[in-house]
Amino acid sequence: MGRKGLFVDYEYCTGCHSCEVACKMEHHLPQEQFGIKVCEIGPWEIIPGDNHWQYTYIPVPTDQCDLCVGRTEMGKLPTCVQHCQANVMKYGEVADFAKDMESKKKVVCYTVE
Ligand code: SF4
Ligand code: SF4
Repeated sequence: MGRKGLFVDYEYCTGCHSCEVACKMEHHLPQEQFGIKVCEIGPWEIIPGDNHWQYTYIPVPTDQCDLCVGRTEMGKLPTCVQHCQANVMKYGEVADFAKDMESKKKVVCYTVE
């Protein structure tokens, strides 16, 4: 079995923070700690006057992400994946993500040890 990871298509992330909350609850994390943190980049206008804005949300797993091993061993999805209404995240084998990455901008892949 290949290495597992999270595939994140952040073009469609709305910044709703549901993944953060779900992860915190699953792992009983205190308020100041996160297993995944939604970062906000922007807004700023890239070239003044052309109405092209940098404004992006991207969820970033932390060192406390264990890929929800307790859930996946029972056949469940990681809780961040399950609770994302925008379908931003997928869980699976890293090798399988490469194909999706060839044809899509604004995607990243995360793995743990
Ligand atoms: S990844 Fe999904 S759940 Fe997390 S902030 Fe973005 S849209 Fe919301
Ligand atoms: S896979 Fe699990 S531990 Fe990792 S960020 Fe998602 S909810 Fe948190």
